[in-house]
Amino acid sequence: MEESSPADNDSERPLKKARLDKTELMSASTPVVPLPAELASVDFSQRISWDKYHPYSDIPLPYTPLGTAPAFIASSPALCHHVHALSGRARACTVHLQPQPGQLRSRPLPTPMFMPVGTKGCLKGLAVQELVTDPALSCPIILGNTYHLAIQPGTELVDEMGGLHAFQGLPETLNGALHEPDPNTITTTTSAQPYNLLTDSGGFQMVSLVKLSKITEEGVSFQNPFQKHTNADDVSSMLLLRPEDSIRHQNNIGANIIMALDDVVSSVMEDEARFVTATHRTLRWYDRCVAAHAKADTQNLFPIVQGGLDIALGGKREQCLAGFRHRAVTQGYCIPGYAIGGLAGGESKDDFWRVVDHCCRALPDDKPRYLMGVGYPLDLVVCTALGCDLYDCVYPTRTARFGVALVPGRHPGTLRLKAHECASDTGPIQDGCGCQACREGISRARLHLLLKTNNPLAAELVTQHNIAYMMTLVRDMRNSILRHEFAAFATNFVQQQFPGERQGGDECPAWVKNALEAAGVGLLK
Ligand SMILES: [Zn+2]
Repeated sequence: MEESSPADNDSERPLKKARLDKTELMSASTPVVPLPAELASVDFSQRISWDKYHPYSDIPLPYTPLGTAPAFIASSPALCHHVHALSGRARACTVHLQPQPGQLRSRPLPTPMFMPVGTKGCLKGLAVQELVTDPALSCPIILGNTYHLAIQPGTELVDEMGGLHAFQGLPETLNGALHEPDPNTITTTTSAQPYNLLTDSGGFQMVSLVKLSKITEEGVSFQNPFQKHTNADDVSSMLLLRPEDSIRHQNNIGANIIMALDDVVSSVMEDEARFVTATHRTLRWYDRCVAAHAKADTQNLFPIVQGGLDIALGGKREQCLAGFRHRAVTQGYCIPGYAIGGLAGGESKDDFWRVVDHCCRALPDDKPRYLMGVGYPLDLVVCTALGCDLYDCVYPTRTARFGVALVPGRHPGTLRLKAHECASDTGPIQDGCGCQACREGISRARLHLLLKTNNPLAAELVTQHNIAYMMTLVRDMRNSILRHEFAAFATNFVQQQFPGERQGGDECPAWVKNALEAAGVGLLK
């Protein structure tokens, strides 16, 4: 995602610039690969989809009432997905997860949901305790980075300490069963809340963060970040992450949801053969991840749909989807949920929403859909309209550390607290916000001063505010879906960001209008 902030040496630094050069390294004259054998008989003149319900088919979707207790079944032993309501294609669901070591029980995950990224299972400058217990934050799930935990302190240590939940040292009362939270609310006043963890595969960061990395069929080779003066030809200095290693690390960490190692190519790279290879390899690596997964009864392994920006009939996204459909429908794989990957890497917004739309139309309606790396508030509204459930991105927390607060109002809906205008502004970041800074009346002027003097308290307060903003956004979206009023919510949100649109102007970008129209929630006039 675009961010004009100075390059920080921050482990959360995402995406596109770094990724481009490195993927080019791997692309050298990759031969065009034939279709995988299991796809040879697929009819690619039809769109790929499976287990679809209304509004995608004539079959009514079986709704589950709010508050229904989970039932874990053999085909999905660690995840129970309840759909409560649809508004257009937007879904209000609850994901129930099996508890992990260190968790007395798991906390129901209401969706749509945004997952803050805690590199080592913990956000910078923000204790997990605050993240899960502060009523304005009350995050039910945090994303941890396998790569960072594998490098330091090492996942074997995390495992020895009883998994990441226990490693974080939370008292059992915090992560336990003292209170029965209402599964249908995100914000709650109880002081004891368990929370869930999701870990990524580690592959993406090895490609995006490490200067020298190389992808082969075996896995991702990368430079050991603690070893200086290495080069790609010096095999002894390289570390290798295979699908089996990624799963072993993630089994050690013990997150409730873990991700398959996929072959990620920058969405803006122009190398057709490289994309074809990556799409097919993602399927092969998924098979190896499934075979290596030692805790399928408690940890949920999500495969990732790849295929670049190609949504043509028989194209690469279709091939990847057909590969997963074959595994789920024909081979009987237990696939508890799906991720949509390879986006938010600098492609046009028009390409972006069309791929999201395409994947949501294909993927089964009775499983959660996780759109990876997406965290701009406007993108969340649009992609929720298209049918996505889960999101993660470093943007809200990273931009907070540069003094940028997320606020309602004109696009992009940000307030630069370091800006001169804030120096004498006595108001809070956002009226009515429940975060610590806003509820305690800490002024923009004080935050401005703290930021200007590099006081870490400022970063902490703005981080809390931005997470509170994201949690409020997903809660409001969910409530509007439950009331079947998502179109009104989306219209209001878009008009707030693009006020000229309300006066009959044409301020709202075409991609937003087109995506919402495709989603069936077209902007209300
Ligand atoms: Zn606030």
